[in-house]
Amino acid sequence: MKRMLASLAGLAMVVLTLNGCGKEEPTAATAQAAPQDVFEWKMVTTWPRNYPGLGMAPENFAKAVNAMSGGRLKVKVHGAGELVPAMGVFDAVARGAVQMGHGAAYYWKGKSPAAQFFTAVPFGMNVQEMNGWLHYGGGMELWREVYAPFNLVPFAGGSTGVQMAGWFKKEINSVDDLKGLKMRIPGLAGEVFQRLGGVPVTLPGGELFTALQTGSIDATEWVGPYNDLTFGLYKAADYYYYPGWHEPGAMLEFIVNKDTWESLPPDLQAIVTYATRAINQDMLDEYTARNNSALKELVDKHGVQLRKLPDDVVDALRIASKQVIQETIAEDETAKKVYESFQSFRADVMPYTAISEAAFLEIRGDD
Ligand code: CA
Repeated sequence: MKRMLASLAGLAMVVLTLNGCGKEEPTAATAQAAPQDVFEWKMVTTWPRNYPGLGMAPENFAKAVNAMSGGRLKVKVHGAGELVPAMGVFDAVARGAVQMGHGAAYYWKGKSPAAQFFTAVPFGMNVQEMNGWLHYGGGMELWREVYAPFNLVPFAGGSTGVQMAGWFKKEINSVDDLKGLKMRIPGLAGEVFQRLGGVPVTLPGGELFTALQTGSIDATEWVGPYNDLTFGLYKAADYYYYPGWHEPGAMLEFIVNKDTWESLPPDLQAIVTYATRAINQDMLDEYTARNNSALKELVDKHGVQLRKLPDDVVDALRIASKQVIQETIAEDETAKKVYESFQSFRADVMPYTAISEAAFLEIRGDD
């Protein structure tokens, strides 16, 4: 953190110097960096290579840092299964086998239950609120604290916005319809689903279509129209439910090996930091632009049956979510600390969201 602040201060000095008097004087950051050093990183991801949306964040990040660093930091992206399996990303970066990874913190709940709160909390915060908590509400400091024992430095790595509740082979008309249903649904939401009688499984995205088509699962959540269309999930299930109660803005992550991070010159650290911030926003921009036409194609061309989850099912999910979260934090001090920060920010932000975003959406009309 100190090094990052030092590098940011260095950049600020550059800006001030350039703006102030036009002289190009050496600064702390430029003096410390060794311009001749070229750093070559491997980044492993939990997504298939070049997968639209989620999988483009690592590619876009690699392009951005290469351009911003003038080629001094080169990042090569390896999709799921190329160097390590999708679910091996955390360990590979932690032990330094590779320098960097991209995925989602809730995949690592087995490492630390607290990790789940950095991806998605059922009935939690939307993307705007989540970004506010992480970057201006103390969330990111906690995330670093949770990952420090694993020798990892985390960064927000893109958000999908509110997701879809998922693909189902049969209609869901009551809580009873969830009983015995085998569904791919990771993280806290999976435990909530189990509480209502469902059978949750965690599978990487690349395995969803086959699992759904062969009947080894009855339902799956993935992301939203743009990504779900790409995987062809509509060919394996007819009913597409909303809203994404479980992932009201799933936040992805970049992780960097801590030793690698600390050996990086401050100016390159600043480039990595700001590139992640840019990519974090860029992903949301892309989903906002592409989900609409994908939804139209799913419904108009492929005959997908769009359904809203019944109110009583949503109510049951909400109640079960509170129970699961309370039990999770009762068993783990770190999870409790993270959730208390999350929940306190959520309580503070909700009144204004209600009279700004929510109130505006209500008044703006349909045409
Ligand atoms: Ca999801």
